[in-house]
Amino acid sequence: SPTIGVLALQGDVREHRTALESAGARWTSVRRPAELDGLDGLVLPGGESTTIDKLLRIFELHEPLREAIASGLPVYGSCAGMILLADRVLDGTSDQQTLGGLDVTVRRNAFGRQVDSFETHVDVEGVGGPGVRAAFIRAPWVEEVGPRATVLATIGAGPAAGRIVAVRQGSLLATSFHPEITGDARIHELFVSIVRKEY
Ligand code: GLN
Repeated sequence: SPTIGVLALQGDVREHRTALESAGARWTSVRRPAELDGLDGLVLPGGESTTIDKLLRIFELHEPLREAIASGLPVYGSCAGMILLADRVLDGTSDQQTLGGLDVTVRRNAFGRQVDSFETHVDVEGVGGPGVRAAFIRAPWVEEVGPRATVLATIGAGPAAGRIVAVRQGSLLATSFHPEITGDARIHELFVSIVRKEY
């Protein structure tokens, strides 16, 4: 089974480990550049993107990770992880940087105060069966998708209907929501099949 690193600087690292195990992958924690060696894939967890961004620079992981993504390391980012993968961010802090790689513009905390956090089902292309059980927690949405990225899911109903919440670009996968905290491992299974080049 593939070995997938989980960036373990801040955020819901433990939940991703459990979801990766359910999806048939091995996980390892990444806190130092050397821990990127030999990985088949990497997960950027949910948390706080501005904090993770600062820690990436302090831990001298920013450049090695940028390079790894540019040379084709498969990466899955959930929520803050999606922000870190995005080439462009709206409503970021003035000094906020991303790793980039995904040709999308994301808007941080996009769902607004009324629906700040919620759970719903989301139909995701490439995931069979009923909609993925998805937790949105001060989540971003994808405001704009460039020509290199593909939309995998939008919100089905309600005030945010039509908003883009899952995207893929080659071996990069990102969701606005956290599938790792609802016990639905199918997004991680999708990522593992991307890592295995089966999807
Ligand atoms: N609002 C957070 C951010 O901007 C993301 C929230 C999350 O990952 N649940 O990074």
